Amino acid sequence: MTPSVSPPGPHPAPSGRPDGSRALPRVVIVGAGFAGYQTARHLSRSLRGRAEIVLLNPTDYFLYLPLLPQVTAGVLEPRRITVSLPGTLRHVRLVLGQADHVDLDGRAVHYTDPEGTEGTLTYDRLVLAVGSVSKLLPIPGVAENATGFRGLPEALYLRDHITRQIELASAAGNPAECTSRCTFVVVGAGYTGTELAAHGKMFTDALVRKQPAWPAGVKPRWMLLDVADRVLPGLDESLSRTADEVLRGRGVDVRTKTSVKESKPDGVLLDDGEFVETRSLIWCVGVRPDPFVSELGLPVERGRLVVTPQLGVPGHPDVFACGDAAAVPDLTRPGEFTPMTAQHAARQGKVAARNVAASLGLGEEVPYKHNDLGFAVDLGGVKAAANPMGVKLSGAVAGAVTRGYHLAAMPGNRVRVAADWLLDAALPRQAVQLGLLRSWQVPLDTASPELARIPAGPGGDHGTRGGGNSKE
Ligand SMILES: Cc1cc2nc3c(=O)[nH]c(=O)nc-3n(C[C@H](O)[C@H](O)[C@H](O)COP(=O)(O)OP(=O)(O)OC[C@H]3O[C@@H](n4cnc5c(N)ncnc54)[C@H](O)[C@@H]3O)c2cc1C
Repeated sequence: MTPSVSPPGPHPAPSGRPDGSRALPRVVIVGAGFAGYQTARHLSRSLRGRAEIVLLNPTDYFLYLPLLPQVTAGVLEPRRITVSLPGTLRHVRLVLGQADHVDLDGRAVHYTDPEGTEGTLTYDRLVLAVGSVSKLLPIPGVAENATGFRGLPEALYLRDHITRQIELASAAGNPAECTSRCTFVVVGAGYTGTELAAHGKMFTDALVRKQPAWPAGVKPRWMLLDVADRVLPGLDESLSRTADEVLRGRGVDVRTKTSVKESKPDGVLLDDGEFVETRSLIWCVGVRPDPFVSELGLPVERGRLVVTPQLGVPGHPDVFACGDAAAVPDLTRPGEFTPMTAQHAARQGKVAARNVAASLGLGEEVPYKHNDLGFAVDLGGVKAAANPMGVKLSGAVAGAVTRGYHLAAMPGNRVRVAADWLLDAALPRQAVQLGLLRSWQVPLDTASPELARIPAGPGGDHGTRGGGNSKE
């Protein structure tokens, strides 16, 4: 039998063994995004069977979010940007479910599985990596009429919705309806909104070319709004300039210093008084930490869990946190916290794994320190804006670097993604809407953007079957 590890200094001894219930210490990781996936991956390598690693996540896959706009634009099929957790994480036990509550004194995580059954996982070490959800602003009508962009259900819904709007616009009886249906308003010109508008315009132009009875002179209209004075406001100005040029060159109506005052089912009132008739308001104003974090009763900084540079939760030596959900001190910019990006989340996951192992007696604890490596923004076709290691790139070179970066950063499924890119370069996009998701299934105000809402049923809120049971 592999010996179990023993904890050094201030970290509590693994529990659960005196009564014979568990032979090995248990590490529970909540969330399998960039941070949680890397924590599990590196722990499984370093602990090598000397602790039980349990990964609690509502889905059985890791989602490579940066390629989500390409799913909506029909470039990539949805499964391409997922990576199977059981298929790629050896020695890690996946528990499907969503954490509802953490009992910090009793060292237990309570969760609900996809069928509504409740369960409990006791732990010796806990890593919280629950990520973030769409940010809401108190603007009338937005929660009811806008669609967020934080998970596969929303990306799939939008792909269908956009296709449907173009098909309905083609058959519309009057020009006003046609114009409104082929107007798409994206709010928030960060990397998500910018990529979505850039890809979306290309997608709808391609859809229109396939419509035999498309009214002459009508073109799909994409608007990209931001309160800032430039697109990609948080990024280097060279990236903003490149993106702005590509967007405008493609015909996207870029409106900086502009926001939404009110949203209605038939349109959007802008803060400059203009009313834009549209059936499509896409909300990309940013993210906020998963609300689950604020419910823990631990100190937070703008909704993110306060942690030390070693990613430990102060006062709880058995709890660690990383990724979007954690306020990690940025040692490269004293006084600031690391931004909510995949680049940081994945690297923090690796450090969390190292420090969890150290807390169990294997190796030394290290602080998290990472210099930004630059950013890559895919603008569709062969175009992108990128500044890897500070080198400013645009056009096809940036496009190649961006795609290469994504392939290198994905923990799996690279061949399938590359194959879809090749197919997209050679073949026209499929103009088909499957209609599997409806707008009420992808509400903007949700703590679970990774799951589509399903009708309420006997199992409870989520309409799940077999609710009410309890399991360990
Ligand atoms: C469309 C889009 C494009 C992006 N593009 C880029 C980019 O190009 N470059 C970049 O650096 N960053 C990008 N980002 C940001 C980046 O994706 C995030 O910073 C990153 O995903 C954060 O990683 P994380 O592990 O903290 O959270 P996530 O990746 O969001 O993972 C959180 C995980 O926790 C799970 N979870 C949530 N709540 C619970 C619960 N209660 N119980 C159990 N599990 C739970 C979720 O299902 C999910 O699997 C993009 C984000 C979006 C939305």
